[in-house]
Amino acid sequence: MATFMKMVANGDILSIALKRYKCFIPNGSILVTRDYSISAENHENYDIIITGGGMVGTTLACALANNRKLECKKILLLESGRQFEYKFEEKYSNRVVALNQQTRTLLSSIGAWQHIKATRYCTVHKMQVWDACSDAMIVFNEDYLTEEIAYIVENDLLLHAVNKQLIDKENVNVIYNSKVENIKLPKTLEENAEIQLQDGTKYKTKLLIGADGVNSLVRQTMDTQYVKWDYNQMGVVATLKLSEPTENIVAWQRFLPTGPIALLPLTNCLSSLVWSLPTTEAKRLLKVSEEEFVDSINNALWKVYPKDGVVESGMRALQQLLEGLSLQTGAVKQLQPSVSAIIEGSRAAFPLQFGHSVSYVQTGTVLVGDAAHRVHPLAGQGVNLGFGDVTVLVQLLAEAVINGARLGDMTYLRKYETLRQRYNVPIMFAIDALHRLYKGTAAPIVLARSLGLQLTNAIPVIKKALVEHASGQIRN
Ligand SMILES: Cc1cc2nc3c(=O)[nH]c(=O)nc-3n(C[C@H](O)[C@H](O)[C@H](O)COP(=O)(O)OP(=O)(O)OC[C@H]3O[C@@H](n4cnc5c(N)ncnc54)[C@H](O)[C@@H]3O)c2cc1C
Repeated sequence: MATFMKMVANGDILSIALKRYKCFIPNGSILVTRDYSISAENHENYDIIITGGGMVGTTLACALANNRKLECKKILLLESGRQFEYKFEEKYSNRVVALNQQTRTLLSSIGAWQHIKATRYCTVHKMQVWDACSDAMIVFNEDYLTEEIAYIVENDLLLHAVNKQLIDKENVNVIYNSKVENIKLPKTLEENAEIQLQDGTKYKTKLLIGADGVNSLVRQTMDTQYVKWDYNQMGVVATLKLSEPTENIVAWQRFLPTGPIALLPLTNCLSSLVWSLPTTEAKRLLKVSEEEFVDSINNALWKVYPKDGVVESGMRALQQLLEGLSLQTGAVKQLQPSVSAIIEGSRAAFPLQFGHSVSYVQTGTVLVGDAAHRVHPLAGQGVNLGFGDVTVLVQLLAEAVINGARLGDMTYLRKYETLRQRYNVPIMFAIDALHRLYKGTAAPIVLARSLGLQLTNAIPVIKKALVEHASGQIRN
């Protein structure tokens, strides 16, 4: 109460009210000014609070504010980290993501893609995936070099681009260094969620959205079942210099018995490494000299593994069968690049896990992004799934508002959960199954997966469906 009185005396309440709780029409004049209040318990009230200002939470805040039906809602974004500052550097960041078409559409719709486009990104036109144990291979977009499969963008640049758009949104308040420590979730639709920060500040909201990453406090407070396992692997990342400049438009992935190694194009001379390895090996590779590290990468890309006779004859039989059916018997293998050096200091490693929250929603509460689901990076889908959550959630909240429902209404939240789980879960389990399938070196396993890969490669309809699903085109 003392703080409240002090704020009244300082005129803070009025200034906050004028600054933050207005609804603007496009020419900048005020359309609606609502009463801004701090409740008797000294809680500041918001329509929507998002915890976690990572790529997903920040994009969500921007997409909500950008939606005509939601632009009058008062939104708070809480991020425990420091205020994000982006400085353009010639040197590429070692943290990049492969974004699909659907994500690009979302980023374009909020105006963020134009900033990425004006800075830098690399388009992937073709993808070559092959098995070190059998040389079975699948090539996506082999004949359609003009089509765009994915876009490689630095995480920092993406966040910067979204923040640039967010800054103009009058109804969004972003607070950095604000770690959420306690949450009381509503039991009924009439109640609000209560949030307390580490510094004691309290907030209330009609809808709490957890975008607070893999260890989400919102998810833990929901007390929902969370299915998870560790892969006992780390994803080693680095920025690589290629031995020779090339038209670098291909994403390469080789499945090794120890885990997949992937090279994502950045420029004609640079690629970004994502190499999944057993934890001990990953930690060792972080310590070896840069020369030894480069040798290990080239070895992983080029080493010839002994071929099993059973696998070889099985593959020959499949080839004859496909020839008999006049199907493609094998895409033309393009030679993978070699690496000459790494950009100094670009090596890092991240633990890899599978995690899925059985529920994404509860009255007045929703999970998005890694807070709801975490996948192995081998298919480059993690943040794309999170951006898919954003698109669907914004649509359904707008629908709730049009129909006069409260933001936390379970009818709309359940619909979000159903649509997203129907989309996310099959992808997540397919990625996990791929990881397990490619770990095995026993001949029957290698044979089964090699036949599967080669067969998929030979049947254009299946391949097209795979590309469409991975690009987010088959959404609901
Ligand atoms: C090696 C590697 C490669 C990858 N490559 C790809 C790829 O090519 N394509 C792809 O789609 N995905 C990829 N991913 C996955 C992708 O990085 C994640 O899915 C994505 O970063 C998740 O974003 P998020 O915003 O949901 O969560 P996070 O990035 O974890 O953000 C959560 C935010 O919440 C904040 N926070 C946490 N707790 C609190 C709290 N209590 N209070 C306030 N704030 C809080 C954190 O500070 C953080 O900023 C990769 C992952 C790895 C490890």
